[in-house]
Amino acid sequence: MTQDADTKMRFLYALRSKGVTDARVLTAMEQVDRADFVKGTFADRAYEDMPLPIACGQTISQPSVVGIMTQALKVSARDKVLEIGTGSGYQAAILSKLARRVYTVDRYRRLVLAARLIFDAQDITNITSFIADGSFGFADQAPFDRILLTAAAEDPPGPLLAQLRVGGIMVLPVGQSDTVQSLIRVTRHETGYDYDELRPVRFVPLLEGLGQD
Ligand code: SAH
Repeated sequence: MTQDADTKMRFLYALRSKGVTDARVLTAMEQVDRADFVKGTFADRAYEDMPLPIACGQTISQPSVVGIMTQALKVSARDKVLEIGTGSGYQAAILSKLARRVYTVDRYRRLVLAARLIFDAQDITNITSFIADGSFGFADQAPFDRILLTAAAEDPPGPLLAQLRVGGIMVLPVGQSDTVQSLIRVTRHETGYDYDELRPVRFVPLLEGLGQD
């Protein structure tokens, strides 16, 4: 299924009605076709505002939640962004339209390899994807201007806080995995961190170590 003009308009309208109002974020989400990241039986539901299953028992997030998180991250064209939880690669592709460079990591090799194929097919050249436990961040490329977690931690992981540039922003869901979690925004200042609670969300948990697949 490809995105005709009518489907695209309804998709963008739904995003706006759920609070995604930032013009740059909406443009980026218009450029990235979610159907490319949803395979098989669920592909025909790609434009509905719901999370959908992907390989390895994971999920591609709900578009309005992707929009709200991206908006909360306030990405600028000069930014170097780290995403933890590549999943389908959809969120990373959107970030790639807004940032200078995106590093994205997942603990499942299979997901990272599949996402890489899509990035290549779409000639996206500013994403570096890798397989690792993202809780430790990516020290080689730190500090990051922006960090986004798309899996829920009980607390913001220490290594990620340390790899955030002064003035940088990190957005993440926090809380127990099988209950409602809070989306929070952490802003790093010269002397510490500010925490804002944004809204309730529900994400898969941030797990330790590498996945089997
Ligand atoms: N951003 C994705 C959705 C992610 S679902 C998208 O746009 O499709 C959450 C992902 O986080 C899953 O793929 C899961 O494997 C990954 N994940 C969970 N714990 C992780 C960890 N410690 N390090 C890296 N990835 C992790």
